[in-house]
Amino acid sequence: MGRPHKKRYVAHNPGVSYFKPRGIPMVKLMETRLTIDECEALRLADYEGYSHEDAGEEMGVSRATFGRIIEKARKTVADALINGKAIRIEGGNYQFVDGGRRFACACCKHDWMAECGTPRPDACPECGENDLERVMPELDENS
Ligand SMILES: [Zn+2]
Repeated sequence: MGRPHKKRYVAHNPGVSYFKPRGIPMVKLMETRLTIDECEALRLADYEGYSHEDAGEEMGVSRATFGRIIEKARKTVADALINGKAIRIEGGNYQFVDGGRRFACACCKHDWMAECGTPRPDACPECGENDLERVMPELDENS
């Protein structure tokens, strides 16, 4: 049994799950797949403008892993645009996080929640220091 992949945290549900180019009959339509975690990577890096390091932290993966996810996501989207393929958004290795993100201050140990979609806090609201850590939620093994 292989080591299970660590799940990536996804804060935004894309909602739309299928993009299709106009004017191509279904029989000729080729399809490519973007996973939910790849879609989240595009949102963080290319839509919100996060650095790979910050985006990786949002998703609970290293900068290098984030780099691989975003590279594959961009290639998939480019393939669809260049070759006129439909994009199906589904699957992947992810867990939705809701209720916000938890941060902890390394100086005074204060911890607090920041809503998803808000900028990463740059200072502790208690002591004003900027040595902050993201506290990752427990993974739900059933999902
Ligand atoms: Zn503090």
